[in-house]
Amino acid sequence: MKSECLRIGISGGTFDPIHYGHLIAAQEIRERLNLDKIIFIPVGDPPHKTDIEVTGSIHRLNMVKKAIESNPFFEVSSIEVDRPGYTYTVDTLMELKEKYPENCKFYFIIGADTVPQLVTWKEYRKVFTLCQFVAVMRPGFDSEKICSEARRLERCFSAKIDIIDTPLIEISSTDIRKRIRESRSIKYLVPESVEEYIYANGLYR
Ligand code: ATP
Ligand code: MG
Repeated sequence: MKSECLRIGISGGTFDPIHYGHLIAAQEIRERLNLDKIIFIPVGDPPHKTDIEVTGSIHRLNMVKKAIESNPFFEVSSIEVDRPGYTYTVDTLMELKEKYPENCKFYFIIGADTVPQLVTWKEYRKVFTLCQFVAVMRPGFDSEKICSEARRLERCFSAKIDIIDTPLIEISSTDIRKRIRESRSIKYLVPESVEEYIYANGLYR
């Protein structure tokens, strides 16, 4: 008997904290690409952000759990948080491939700013063979430049990078952290449960 072919979205990030930009992009892509589910995977020890202080992975994981609670198509995985040391997408994708039937397809959701960074990822050529990327635009990024970089990666490395037109959401974790430091509101930028968690745990002050 042939096992069913699952279409799985992956949303990876620091999620420090998770916000509506991440959630809206994931929801939009799940519907448009008819994905069976989206797995949110917070990074453990982020290799690209060693110069910046990152909130403990347990808090970031807890905030993702709260944010996705009401969506039956969303789940969270601690696969990277549980891995000691630096975590890399290539290892995560290999682990997921082991776990799921062979004919599963993985769609990795990224924002426009991540497209030019893909070639800095560990074993990025292998990563390109393990998943298809789905990129959404972010405010402040030149869509023509992002598209041409995506086409270049497709030509040079046989990557697959689809750029999907979704509503532009001008929210970033950096801005949320800054607002909290300045005692400004973060209402309507993150789910209420996440806002409550941030204040209850005194994060970002
Ligand atoms: P920071 O400001 O700390 O970098 P961030 O808001 O960019 O945080 P990340 O956790 O770094 O959030 O992002 C994870 C992924 O989600 C990245 O691929 C990023 O491009 C994408 N992303 C984040 N915010 C948005 C948004 N508002 N719209 C679309 N994609 C987004
Ligand atoms: Mg970012």
